[in-house]
Amino acid sequence: PYTGPSAEEILAKRKEYLSPSLFHFFSKPLNVVDGKMQYLFDENGRRYLDGFGGIATVCCGHCHPDVVDAIVKQINRIQHSTVLYLNHAIADFAEALVSKMPGNLKVVFFTNSGTEANELAMMIARLYTGCQDIISLRNEYHGNAAATMGATAQSVWKFNVIQSGVHHALNPDPYRGVFGSDGEKYAKDVQDIIDFGTTGHVAGFISEAIQGVGGIIELAPGYLPAAYGSVKKAGGLCISDEVQAGFGRTGNHFWGFETQGVVPDIVTMAKGIGNGIPLGAVVTTPEIAEVLTRRSYFNTFGGNPLCTAAGLAVLKVMEKENLQENALVVGSYLKKRLTELKDKYEIIGDVRGKGLMLGVELVTDRQQKTPAKAETLHVMEQMKELGVLIGKGGFYGNVFRITPPLCFTKEDADFLVDAMDYTISKM
Ligand code: PMP
Repeated sequence: PYTGPSAEEILAKRKEYLSPSLFHFFSKPLNVVDGKMQYLFDENGRRYLDGFGGIATVCCGHCHPDVVDAIVKQINRIQHSTVLYLNHAIADFAEALVSKMPGNLKVVFFTNSGTEANELAMMIARLYTGCQDIISLRNEYHGNAAATMGATAQSVWKFNVIQSGVHHALNPDPYRGVFGSDGEKYAKDVQDIIDFGTTGHVAGFISEAIQGVGGIIELAPGYLPAAYGSVKKAGGLCISDEVQAGFGRTGNHFWGFETQGVVPDIVTMAKGIGNGIPLGAVVTTPEIAEVLTRRSYFNTFGGNPLCTAAGLAVLKVMEKENLQENALVVGSYLKKRLTELKDKYEIIGDVRGKGLMLGVELVTDRQQKTPAKAETLHVMEQMKELGVLIGKGGFYGNVFRITPPLCFTKEDADFLVDAMDYTISKM
């Protein structure tokens, strides 16, 4: 049993010693002391079904024994920087990762986070093309350092830093966007930005295939092929940010970009790929990767033995346990059940997403699509009391984000939907 400090004591210390900008989801934040697969446990041993952990940390389940084993074995042998010395872990994981990539995407740079991966990807695009302008999508999240904060396009995540060389294109949002589900119409805005906002040449384009922080928004069908076409004609590189949608989460495909049938020039990833261990990566072609030989490029812990041993173990677990297939089967079932809830309750304006990356948008008026922000928080809090954790997002804070570890079962899906059903019925 847990014998450490209580939630109140931790909160008091956090208030005194930690960044005042830290926020927590619940009015009475949860003290998680243990994790096992799709479950989290609080200080009293109470179990919670984790419907959100998949994106924050784990893709094959909290403390998956194979991953823990790989980490422990590695830390007992050596943990160091792998920039200066050889070690097999980084090479083995790079080889395995590349085997999951289409086309000529064959060279990996390892980082410690999604922000670092996107910073590097944007710099590579700028170096390769000799241009500065990068187009990103409104409502996206790409990170919180200089370049990535510029590319991120939600005011709540933007500090007053100099934002140079970024243009934000219309968001191809089928639910709230002006052109509905017509991806090609939105993509015309990318061409317009190139024609009217740049020299006609750009460094690149960055987007998520399904927006995570932005509220699980699937880009309208046909958007990426058309947008990529314009960007390529303008000499730019296309970057796919797979930090949330990658690694089998969408069920049908291993990578989010595959849902739109495109092949990017650069792919970035992080979060679940290390199953909770800090790990990010940029994958590109040998020709593009060459630009980083123009100067010295160094990242002390990027690709260190511990993190890459964890990464390789994750890929093996995914294969062994058919987790992508599970994301498809359980995700489709969960989406069907959530869609039935939408038929039952007016307050649910939209149910969307693919695989185990699902969103439920709450509105007080289906016609006006008025965000039901307070209700969203209330349902989340109540579901937590019932033992189910889900996330939220979207510009208006009115979208449930359901992104569990990929080991989620149909029974878990039923429990989650039943808890949501019960909570909404009591409102
Ligand atoms: N890209 C996407 C799509 C993200 O969701 C996030 C994190 N929310 C990031 C990049 C940044 O990752 P990190 O927090 O690891 O820097």
